[in-house]
Amino acid sequence: MTSIFDTESPIKIARRGLMLVLSSPSGAGKSTIARTLLDSDPLFMLSVSVTTRKRRASEIDGVHYHFIEREAFHQMREGGALLEWAEVHGNLYGTPRVAAEKAMQDGRDMLFDIDYQGALQLQRQAKADIVSIFILPPSMAELKTRLLRRAEDSGETIAVRLKNARVEIARWRDYDYVVINDDLDRAFSAVRSIINAERLRRDRRPGLYDFTAQLLSEEIA
Ligand code: 5GP
Repeated sequence: MTSIFDTESPIKIARRGLMLVLSSPSGAGKSTIARTLLDSDPLFMLSVSVTTRKRRASEIDGVHYHFIEREAFHQMREGGALLEWAEVHGNLYGTPRVAAEKAMQDGRDMLFDIDYQGALQLQRQAKADIVSIFILPPSMAELKTRLLRRAEDSGETIAVRLKNARVEIARWRDYDYVVINDDLDRAFSAVRSIINAERLRRDRRPGLYDFTAQLLSEEIA
C-alpha cells in the first residue's frame, strides 16, 4: 500500500491512509461538514456511493452518488462489488468496493458519508483504519427546521427522515467521536482536530520506525 506523507511538516513520515466515517441523522449538517473537509484537505477523497434513491435537483450523477436501479444494485451486492450496504429511509445505498480499495492503495484518506448500519459493517472489516464520527443536531426542533429549509424533499420524505432520526441518534455509542453541530464553524473545527490527532497516531505511522532509527543512529557532536 502506498503511504501518505502529511504536508504540514518538511519531515516526511509515511503513514497509512485512514477511513473516516461520518454519520448523522438527515439535517444535522453532515453533508456541509463533509464538503468543507473535501474542499480544504487535498488528502481526502469522497467514497461515492451507489443508491436507488431518486436524484435531487441539486445532485450530479457520479459526483454525489451513482444513481442506479434496484436491479443493478442487487447485481452489485450479489457480485460482492459493495464493501457495505444498507436500506435507509426505504432506499438502498452501498459503498463500491473497487473505488474505495484503489483510493486506499493510492495512499488517500477516504471519507465515507454512510449511516450507522454501514459504519458497523466497515468497522467489522477494517477496524484499525476506521475513524468514526457521529454528528448530532443541537435539538430535534432545529433538525426539523433544517430539513424544512433544505426544501428539496417532499413533506412525506421529511416526516420519514424525522422519525428515523430517533433510531439513528440512538446509535451514537457505536462511534469513536460525537460532535454536536450547534454552530457549523465550531463543529468543523472539532472534526478537524479529530483528524489532525488521528493522523498522528503512532500505530498509523509505520514511517516512525525509520525516523526513530535514523534519530538514534545520529552522532551527537
Ligand atoms: P441521503 O438520501 O440524504 O443522501 O442519504 C440518506 C442516508 O443514507 C444518509 O444518512 C447517508 O449517510 C446514508 N448513506 C449514503 N450512502 C450510503 C452508503 O453507501 N451506505 C450506507 N450504509 N449509508 C449511506
